[in-house]
Amino acid sequence: MTVYLDHAATTPVDSRVLDEMKPFFSRKFGNASSLHFFGREAREAVEVARERVARLVGASPDEIVFTSGGTEADNLAVLGGFEAAHGKKIVCSAIEHPAVLEPCNELERRGAQKALLPVDGEGIVDLNAAPEVICGASLVSVMHANNEVGSIQPIKELARMAHEQGALFHCDAVQSAGKIAVDVRKLGVDLLVFSSHKIYGPKGVGALYVREGVKINPIVFGGGQEHALRSGTENVACIVGFGMACELALRELPRESKRLALLRDRLLKKLLEIKGSFLNGPVGEKRLPNNVNVSFEAVEGESIVLGLDGFGIAASTGSACSSRKLQPSHVLLAMGRRPEEAHGSLRFTLGRSTTAKQVDFAAAKTAKVVERLRVMSPFKPGDDLSKIDFGGHAE
Ligand code: PLP
Repeated sequence: MTVYLDHAATTPVDSRVLDEMKPFFSRKFGNASSLHFFGREAREAVEVARERVARLVGASPDEIVFTSGGTEADNLAVLGGFEAAHGKKIVCSAIEHPAVLEPCNELERRGAQKALLPVDGEGIVDLNAAPEVICGASLVSVMHANNEVGSIQPIKELARMAHEQGALFHCDAVQSAGKIAVDVRKLGVDLLVFSSHKIYGPKGVGALYVREGVKINPIVFGGGQEHALRSGTENVACIVGFGMACELALRELPRESKRLALLRDRLLKKLLEIKGSFLNGPVGEKRLPNNVNVSFEAVEGESIVLGLDGFGIAASTGSACSSRKLQPSHVLLAMGRRPEEAHGSLRFTLGRSTTAKQVDFAAAKTAKVVERLRVMSPFKPGDDLSKIDFGGHAE
């Protein structure tokens, strides 16, 4: 049995999505900018997809810009939004994905002032600290839900605070769109990003919502496609697939999110029965319905992932592996975890194919792997590891 529990990394393309895409790799191969029949056919398909994509987040179709994925869309929002606003100060949360953190770092290298919004122990932005950090900002970027610990952020309140300062508000909704309700009007955001491959669509396509009237500058120049905000021949087949993926996600969301939340809590309960384990992130409504993140004292998350791999179970750690050096997760460090705790984290993210049987299997094998690793570990649960240098500081 193989069990895929890494849906936050990516998801398989749904067969209904694939069926919709197939003709656009062969018979319907036109360039959506061409005037002839082939071009018009491709253009029509792109515009149908735009409507479907817009509907998932409550936007109107002309507010959607297709990009090559979440990373490019985040870069366009942060760099393009900041430049158009003649920005001086950029603010993002301390737990953003690198797709937002790195363009913010780039702006700092170019001379901007950068400030990070702190989070509490559950990985939720601290609303009391926010007004001071946001003060004087030109653009504020906070993710809707965190990719490591699944914490859902108070976007409405943060967007309001940003607007009070005259700042633009950008939201990375790559992990939340299709899993919980996302409505750009209710959230009150100016810019919002989501990505196809996290919701059973193809890789290499994403969308940026730009609220009508908001000005941003392009970061890619060329033929002027996508309202001149993202030049380049449209990736028609993948855009069509993304459209279908959004339609299915919207249709299935109410039922699927309830089903996943039950499985999440079932898995969590079993994992927390393992000695020396503790939860990372919030519980219940404040957490994505498909995210489980648990740390185990005295064992490393990477070792557990490799052990589970041996049982055919695909999971991941909370930590990012950057420049071939294993750094503890900047998210867990920002939440106040010690480096050794951050090293021991394990993330399971559930999806459409996940069953109760799989969840039980994963929990049982995790207990086995942790037990085996503890036998080999020089440490045991409860040891004081605070004097040992595990490296790494928050990025
Ligand atoms: N933002 C978040 C929160 C993510 O989890 C990811 C992907 O893991 C991205 C952005 C990047 O999206 P993409 O893989 O489409 O470039």
